[in-house]
Amino acid sequence: MEKNNNLKTLDYFLKYITFDTQSDDNSKTTPSTFNQLVLAKEIYNDIKKLGYTNTFIDEFGQVYLFIDGEKNSDTIGFCAHMDTTLEESGKNVTANIIINYDGKNIILKNNKIISPNEYPILNSFIGDTLITTDGTTLLGADDKAGISIIMNLIRFLKENPSFKHHPISILFTCDEEIGRGADHFNNLIFKADYGFTIDGDTPYAISYENFNAAEVDINITGFNIHPGEAKNKMVNALLLAFQINSYLDAKAIPELTENYQGFYHLNDLSGNESRAHMHYIIRDFNQDELNNKIDAFYNAKDILLKKYKAAKIDIGVNYQYKNMAEILNKDSRAINKAKNAFDKLNISYKILPIRGGTDGATFSFKGCPTPNLGTGSYNHHGVLEFLNVNEHNLLIEILKEIVKI
Ligand SMILES: [Zn+2]
Repeated sequence: MEKNNNLKTLDYFLKYITFDTQSDDNSKTTPSTFNQLVLAKEIYNDIKKLGYTNTFIDEFGQVYLFIDGEKNSDTIGFCAHMDTTLEESGKNVTANIIINYDGKNIILKNNKIISPNEYPILNSFIGDTLITTDGTTLLGADDKAGISIIMNLIRFLKENPSFKHHPISILFTCDEEIGRGADHFNNLIFKADYGFTIDGDTPYAISYENFNAAEVDINITGFNIHPGEAKNKMVNALLLAFQINSYLDAKAIPELTENYQGFYHLNDLSGNESRAHMHYIIRDFNQDELNNKIDAFYNAKDILLKKYKAAKIDIGVNYQYKNMAEILNKDSRAINKAKNAFDKLNISYKILPIRGGTDGATFSFKGCPTPNLGTGSYNHHGVLEFLNVNEHNLLIEILKEIVKI
């Protein structure tokens, strides 16, 4: 497809990024921050201004919109989140629009540089229009680019009443970045046969596989005695912790894995000779492999308890989320819709696994199979975040093709 760097579609995006909508994982309220409600109101008003009436904000701050379509056709859902990450400020965002990018380093304030050496994808963006910040905040394209793409779709539908399309359900959620984005999802309200989250980076991908996830807590009790008298008596809980880790696959750690490889990630270790605590997150695309990874802890425990009679090892397992492929492999209507749209537009794409969780996974297990499409924005959660306008506009075309009848 021909490049489309037209900035006309960016009005919603450039407005929404000026709203600071950082979520807060210490907050007990829903949404976690008041600012998300302010943006929800703004979006709701924008939807009304387009002439839609079947729209509301629910008690959790989520914005809904329902659009009638051709009878006897599937209702297609689209979802994006309004909050931004805790990791970097999203306050006073200043958009820096780079027209006709020349392929060189992009130099921002405070010596921040977005460099093609570090981010080689920039080499394929020469001639495109890019939007960065001034380098002091994140951009918030995660996921306001997703919202903007959806808003452009619904504006197009209003402006082109003869365009025949599926019925559409739209949902803008809160608190995705703190893991609460799917908490209030109810497909009895959303009423979509299947849907798409518009969140993530490259537009040339469909993602419907995510990790199965569990966390493992291990509490180790040792036996302490004066080190001078310790021979054949002391059982050092901290050293038992080291030993437990040595029974796990040393290559299956985040820093050595990619694509479809799973891992053990030790993210807390504390204690002394008497007591130690370990916390791992375990990830794998395959549920059996995830269970095997968990079994490895119990095997280590058995071996160590035989050797150290005075020790105690408690293992707690908490399953967190599941791979939505389990659902999408049985109901592939959403994936087929997306694939057809890419084919019709003559765009090549990849099936890319998500090395994390996604709200779409929870939606899928709650009755709405929901793979993910990208937004054309990159370097999320940091001050080097940027949006590629051409890719943003391409996604609007992909969404139009998905809903088209
Ligand atoms: Zn996101």
